[in-house]
Amino acid sequence: MADLKALYQEIILDHNRNPHNFRVIEGADRAVDGFNPLCGDHYMVYLKLEGDRIVDVSFKGSGCAISKASASVMSTLVKGKSKAEALELFESFHHLVLGEVKDSAAIEMMGKLAAFAGVSEFPARVKCAILPWHTLKNGLVSETTAVTTES
Ligand code: ZN
Repeated sequence: MADLKALYQEIILDHNRNPHNFRVIEGADRAVDGFNPLCGDHYMVYLKLEGDRIVDVSFKGSGCAISKASASVMSTLVKGKSKAEALELFESFHHLVLGEVKDSAAIEMMGKLAAFAGVSEFPARVKCAILPWHTLKNGLVSETTAVTTES
């Protein structure tokens, strides 16, 4: 289990150093501002949609390693997915970082998302991890252009 934790930490550090889809999408269909005032994480999430499908997703901004790695992993996972599939991933991730997924096999099944399982032990970090997903969700289901973890 110690090795697994080290691996997960490595995944987070790697995504923080080299975030995927860290760019602006010109002419994005949705651009949502996400802010976590408790930590100072602040990102724009950009979405390019075709009907029900997320054909491109990116983010730009700054924040702690957890929030940036979470945004990076989120962007790689939801690209090409339908809105419903992306929202399902959001729910799974939410349960994971709240510590509601207890079974280690179930956690491992979550692939890259599993790297954030340890976040549940640090309540102050949960909002950092969930911020990019929260911002994505608002881009998919509402007309909101700005969200905060404290609303
Ligand atoms: Zn943070």
